[in-house]
Amino acid sequence: MGAAAKMLKFMEQSSWIRKMFEEGARLRAIYGSDRVCDFSLGNPNVYPPEVVHQELVNLAKSSTGASHGYMPNAGLPEVREAIAEYISPVHGVSFTAEDIVMTCGAAGAMNVILKALLDPGDEVLVPAPYFVEYGFYADNHGGILKPIPTTDDFLPDLDALENAISPKTKVLILNSPNNPTGQVYGEALLRDISEILSKRSTDLNRPIYIVSDEPYRNIAFDGIEVPSVLKFYSRSIIATSYSKDLCLAGERIGYLAVHPEMEKKDSLLGALVLANRILGFVNAPAFMQRLVARLQGITVDPMTYQKKRDMLVAAMKEIGYEFIVPKGAFYLFPKSPVPDDVEFVRMLQEELILVVPGSGFGKPGYFRIAFCVDDEVISRSFNGFEKAYKKALS
Ligand code: PLP
Repeated sequence: MGAAAKMLKFMEQSSWIRKMFEEGARLRAIYGSDRVCDFSLGNPNVYPPEVVHQELVNLAKSSTGASHGYMPNAGLPEVREAIAEYISPVHGVSFTAEDIVMTCGAAGAMNVILKALLDPGDEVLVPAPYFVEYGFYADNHGGILKPIPTTDDFLPDLDALENAISPKTKVLILNSPNNPTGQVYGEALLRDISEILSKRSTDLNRPIYIVSDEPYRNIAFDGIEVPSVLKFYSRSIIATSYSKDLCLAGERIGYLAVHPEMEKKDSLLGALVLANRILGFVNAPAFMQRLVARLQGITVDPMTYQKKRDMLVAAMKEIGYEFIVPKGAFYLFPKSPVPDDVEFVRMLQEELILVVPGSGFGKPGYFRIAFCVDDEVISRSFNGFEKAYKKALS
């Protein structure tokens, strides 16, 4: 029998990033890694800020660094307190340690939140394109992901959102700065979304929650602010991590934060903490919790990625590609010059360039370039991007 039929189906659906990964390995073996331009993974290539290494060493030498045992499932109280204190002014609300649950990355946080919120058949709305794992996370907990259309700028279409809400809707996932588009949602939009959800929750006599997945919050360009939806909507929960802004993706450390004024907060927090345990995470890694407590306010310099964005955007514009200029994260999501994005991705592969088709994010006709790579890889890719573009139009 082997793997479950459902998993085999999921493997098919999730295969784009995996396929690109395998294709990268194959191309590197044939042509050498210095010739392949791999833009397929959102794995930051830059080193964590120097202070991260210093604090790792300091912590390893300290007495608390040697405490590796189990702990309360929500995480170490002093770590949660440090985070609550730091993020309160960021979101304009007063968190306490109680509102924070330490998790295994943002992915862990999303799973814990959805397990705590969803009953079988509940619907989870998400503006498309979206981080493809959301569909699997919703399914993990009996939910059904319902993508909703966005405008040409990849902003949620408010009429479509309102129409998509049904008596089964339980969650709206927002992801800003966004993977794969780099779009950032402004304050007015967040207010409008909140008004729609408040009204529909009242009409349906059933709360709809916003889950704000924001691991890219600190990677925003041109000095723009990333507004918080917590200002407008108390049924909000944040999922985030240190994977992207401290380049600690492999260390699996993040947290969730529940709006301090959430209704029925105690039972929700109880459900979240239990979910953390019974999903098998038990608690987030102890050493990493202590590390991030010492690093509140430290983040990779967004200029590192802004420079990469500027290089890429200038060259891609010059060639003729159409796209919105990313305001944050480290992704560019251009329109495919031929209608079939998968076909164009294959044309780029012929130029030894690896990207992910928009179909893999619920948005055919586009492709994603993850520009969290060396500057040298970006500049080396221009020739190939140009050749593929010209070939597509010929
Ligand atoms: N959410 C989004 C939008 C992401 O892009 C990612 C990773 O790429 C995650 C969540 C998962 O992050 P983590 O590695 O912290 O679990």
